[in-house]
Amino acid sequence: MSDRRNVTPNDLSAFWMPFTANRQFKKAPRMFVGAKDMHYTTSDGRKVLDGTAGLWCVNAGHCRPKIVEAIQEQAAELDYAPAFQMGHPKAFELANALVSFAPQGLDHVLYTNSGSESVETALKVALAYHKVKGDAGRFRLIGRERGYHGVNFGGISVGGIVTNRKMFGTLLTGVDHMPHTHTPGKNQFTRGEREAGGEDLASELERIVTLHDASTIAAVIVEPVAGSTGVLIPPKGYLKKLREITKKHGILLIFDEVITGFGRLGTPFAADYFGVTPDILVTAKGLTNGVIPMGAVLVSSEIHDAFMQGPEHVIEFMHGYTYSGNPIASAAGLATLETYKDEGLLTRGAELAPYWADALHSLKGLPHVIDIRNLGLIGAIELEPIAGQPTKRAFSAFVKAFETGILIRTTGDIIAMSPPLIISKAQIDELIGTLGSILKTLE
Ligand code: PMP
Repeated sequence: MSDRRNVTPNDLSAFWMPFTANRQFKKAPRMFVGAKDMHYTTSDGRKVLDGTAGLWCVNAGHCRPKIVEAIQEQAAELDYAPAFQMGHPKAFELANALVSFAPQGLDHVLYTNSGSESVETALKVALAYHKVKGDAGRFRLIGRERGYHGVNFGGISVGGIVTNRKMFGTLLTGVDHMPHTHTPGKNQFTRGEREAGGEDLASELERIVTLHDASTIAAVIVEPVAGSTGVLIPPKGYLKKLREITKKHGILLIFDEVITGFGRLGTPFAADYFGVTPDILVTAKGLTNGVIPMGAVLVSSEIHDAFMQGPEHVIEFMHGYTYSGNPIASAAGLATLETYKDEGLLTRGAELAPYWADALHSLKGLPHVIDIRNLGLIGAIELEPIAGQPTKRAFSAFVKAFETGILIRTTGDIIAMSPPLIISKAQIDELIGTLGSILKTLE
């Protein structure tokens, strides 16, 4: 290769990092060079306890031998197979494994390479489903304020984060938003779900139906627990009521379980935790333990079968990716699901949840802490923003945490945590104890 630019291996300028304050980062980079089980290793040789499962994805912990070996073996045996009009066994095996523990009735799988792509796929399935059923007037998509559904155009359109939307033009048309489920100033320090208010919040969907008419609405998409915008736990009854309203009006219900899937709430999916089955379930992250990019969209037989009605030689759904069901990703997915099963990880969160809740709520009363929220093995600590400098206080906690030896995540002035499901009680104590001592030092 010709050396036209003369950059050194240590030059950090070429990589424009995602969702990162690049100029600040490159002055004081935070680098990981290794990982094992619950820990990362930094470039200066320190161990950092992973309080966030990477980016909510490394549910089985890092560099698990079974997953590593499956990837190595697959890469040596069949590296790539065309995703269209050709198959390979592992993609089918993984789909079967997935539907075997998915909520009842979600029996078919479309593959993607990320959460964002899973969201786009789900929205397109929903729109196309109504068309193939002859109900072409249903073109509207309903999301929620403070929803995060990835970064592609469909996802930011139904999503509800202004900073992710405002730079990018008109977005999708025909989109509306329900209110989010968080009530600042009320219900602080609730452990788990709030008891009251769920049905009222869900009934906001009826208001939207009245405004647009049900015959124009294709689907509603929600995260069962909003993760990226600060772990917003819905009140009891909310999702059941949403299911009731969507069913009544023939609107498809999509759960974005990119974070809540694969054991995060102590059940395989949040759908199991809340006892509500959507028509379409969006996954990614934990599907391959975050090791290889892969997502999957699970759809009901009713939806799948509606597409299978035309002439046999015709492609039923004009959508897919070069890497849909990639052999190496499929092998990683299979090894990941086996690891979850062998180690009981999809339900381990339920056993640890009370201990996790006690640990988190022990931080109540520390300086600047205005709310603590938790469910399963997910939690958030909301800090009072410094006047005129939103995000500064939590970000400073994040940097101090990294320097002290724990990885947390911040979104605005909220600290979010979602450790790998293999975390021990002693490591929960270490994570929360260290965070507590950092919170005491914050300006
Ligand atoms: N949906 C949800 C609920 C998410 O939390 C995320 C990622 N945090 C996404 C979609 C997007 O996933 P990805 O970054 O893999 O595209």
